[in-house]
Amino acid sequence: MEAICLFLVVPCYNEEAVLEDTMAKLTDKLERMMVRGLILPSSRIVFVDDGSKDRTWAMIAGGHEHSELVDGIKLAKNSGHQNAVLAGMLSVMDSCDAVITLDADLQDDIEVLDRFVEEYQKGSQIVYGVRSCRDKDTFFKRASAQSFYRVLGKMGIEIVYNHADYRLMSRRVLHELSNYKEVNLFLRGIVPLLGFQTSQVTYERRERMAGESKYPLKKMLALAMDGITSFSIKPIRLISTMGILLFLTSLIMLIVFLVKDFMGVTVAGWSTIVISIWGIGGLQLLAIGIIGEYIGKIYMEAKGRPRYIVEKYLGSAGAVRL
Ligand code: UDP
Ligand code: MG
Repeated sequence: MEAICLFLVVPCYNEEAVLEDTMAKLTDKLERMMVRGLILPSSRIVFVDDGSKDRTWAMIAGGHEHSELVDGIKLAKNSGHQNAVLAGMLSVMDSCDAVITLDADLQDDIEVLDRFVEEYQKGSQIVYGVRSCRDKDTFFKRASAQSFYRVLGKMGIEIVYNHADYRLMSRRVLHELSNYKEVNLFLRGIVPLLGFQTSQVTYERRERMAGESKYPLKKMLALAMDGITSFSIKPIRLISTMGILLFLTSLIMLIVFLVKDFMGVTVAGWSTIVISIWGIGGLQLLAIGIIGEYIGKIYMEAKGRPRYIVEKYLGSAGAVRL
């Protein structure tokens, strides 16, 4: 198999506690992969400083001085994990054959990097790192992650189970990804939408080496909300459905109460009030739902996502290097 030029993209937010160790381990790993003839000497590790407030950037700059394998990108401000990953990938995509993204705390086993590259060499354009079990996670993290997958599934959003952002993407796929211009980015939802030949590599996820998780509950909830609302207008549909149900209930009530009225069983005036409450409530919800449908359409259009992706082209124009 031919060696490839591989770039590792590592987002870092206040990671001074782990960075030195991470740099040493990753450069060592990259060197070993070069010796194995898996990757070219032009391969690099790119650390993306996501607006850290500690010594992270100074350490990245130091690493760059020290080792020619280490590159750095500094974002102007803290833009969030997803955006940091994207910034790294899109900045380097023209310099390499493939990019692998991984977290700075090396919770994801770096010994499987070889297998990512081998899958790429076998023809996969996207390789997902999938963790085999979650017993190293706290109970809370595990439970919240699982309910997150369940909700996404219900909303009709296709994501890879137990895959975080440890993944390989080819230059070809990155170019397509760069056409997704949305501001609220949820990579795990977008990448499966791209298509192409994919495969998976399983590994065991460890505990964080040092420092604290940079994903507190607040950020996790924000990511979950982004994941749902960036891909689905089902919540809006839910409102319309509720409206229809309420309105139907009021119609049924109308019939029931009319019958009772004729039989003289109800208190005077009661039926009219109750039926109006349900009827008007239902109609209002339905109206909001319909307006929501239009907003949903506008929202999808505003994203301006590509409607198709050409994977291969046979003919002379295909000579353009994709
Ligand atoms: N991260 C980032 N920007 C942020 C938050 C996190 O670049 O605003 C990076 C962080 O440095 C790490 C990765 O995203 O490399 C994942 O964060 P962490 O390991 O804290 O999350 P967890 O593993 O606890 O889900
Ligand atoms: Mg982590």
